[in-house]
Amino acid sequence: MPFDLAARLAARRADNLYRQRPLLESPQGPEVVVDGQPLLAFCNNDYLGLANHPQVIEAWRAGATRWGVGGGASHLVIGHSSPHHALEEALADLTGRPRALLFTTGYMANLGAVTALVGQGDTVLEDRLNHASLLDAGLLSGARFNRYLHNDVRSLANRLEKATGNTLVVTDGVFSMDGDIADLPALARAAKAKGAWLMVDDAHGFGPLGAQGGGVVEHFGLSQDDVPVLVGTLGKAFGTAGAFVAGSEALVESLIQFARPYIYTTSQPPALACATLKSLELLRSEHWRREHLRGLIRQFRQGAEQIGLQLMDSFTPIQPILVGDAGQAMHLSQRLRERGLMVTAIRPPTVPAGSARLRVTLTAAHSEAQVQRLLDALADCFARLAKESSHA
Ligand SMILES: *Cc1c(COP(=O)(O)O)cnc(C)c1O
Repeated sequence: MPFDLAARLAARRADNLYRQRPLLESPQGPEVVVDGQPLLAFCNNDYLGLANHPQVIEAWRAGATRWGVGGGASHLVIGHSSPHHALEEALADLTGRPRALLFTTGYMANLGAVTALVGQGDTVLEDRLNHASLLDAGLLSGARFNRYLHNDVRSLANRLEKATGNTLVVTDGVFSMDGDIADLPALARAAKAKGAWLMVDDAHGFGPLGAQGGGVVEHFGLSQDDVPVLVGTLGKAFGTAGAFVAGSEALVESLIQFARPYIYTTSQPPALACATLKSLELLRSEHWRREHLRGLIRQFRQGAEQIGLQLMDSFTPIQPILVGDAGQAMHLSQRLRERGLMVTAIRPPTVPAGSARLRVTLTAAHSEAQVQRLLDALADCFARLAKESSHA
């Protein structure tokens, strides 16, 4: 029988992989209301605490008054308005690239960039832990698609030897489920040695990383020559929505010609670009947000190590606690929730089988006291889990 959806859903449930959407009944922030319950949350990507910032809200409000609400058309028809253009110029300045092109979402930016740059006869090489949008983009492009071992330059170099046509090497800047960062200097060298281009999606690096929030590329001091295609998203540390691709004049003009997810969609609301211009200003100038966040990351890692939790190799706001079994990760997440804390369990297929985890994310909006509350609850939940499994 075709379309036996009930059976597929039942199997998903049996595998502890069934996904449900928590209902957020408050603005984004450390203290939220979810499904009627007040919770202290450690799961959003609003790393600098800008998603609910009064100045960003006011910029949006003023933008709507001046520019209306809807984009009204695609960028190529009559939807490319002055705030979009000003935001592109500000993003080019942030990244130190000649141009930046605004997309409606990060998913679309990645689909657009990869499919515009490579196709049949070409090669796309991706880190095997890349974000789903990058993997989907590689498959959709029609280029020869190959994944190299996580952050492993030798594995990449082997694949570069066999690459044909235009070759694009694609990596997350900060890996979204692990929190570690790509070894960009080495990846850039390997790519350049073979005449390949390196594309970096730094969705989680812009904001927290780099002296001015310029992300992993600024962190390593890399140039456009090292990273010709640089993607950032605006829904994380920028606290708004959308994404951009930054690079050369020729790159951006090519995307305008050939990136179908850019061409065939309505531009984002211009007032949203006004809000992002404000958040970009705060992201660059309010260094205390990055510094406070770094302090919380240190506090969390020290505390978690004392408890004996298995952390990952991460100095970013993404601090996963490895659990392994998907059911156990769900169970821990539920226990935390009963204590008024929200930490998401991340399960396959988002992460490899057997590597389910609690994904803790810290933001500049959290306080030290809140991080301590999390550590106390984790200590308690893991101690109870250990006790239960020794009795089992
Ligand atoms: C969130 C994310 C995206 C998608 O960006 P959206 O704007 O949310 O569509 C792309 N890449 C990475 C690495 C991400 O974490």
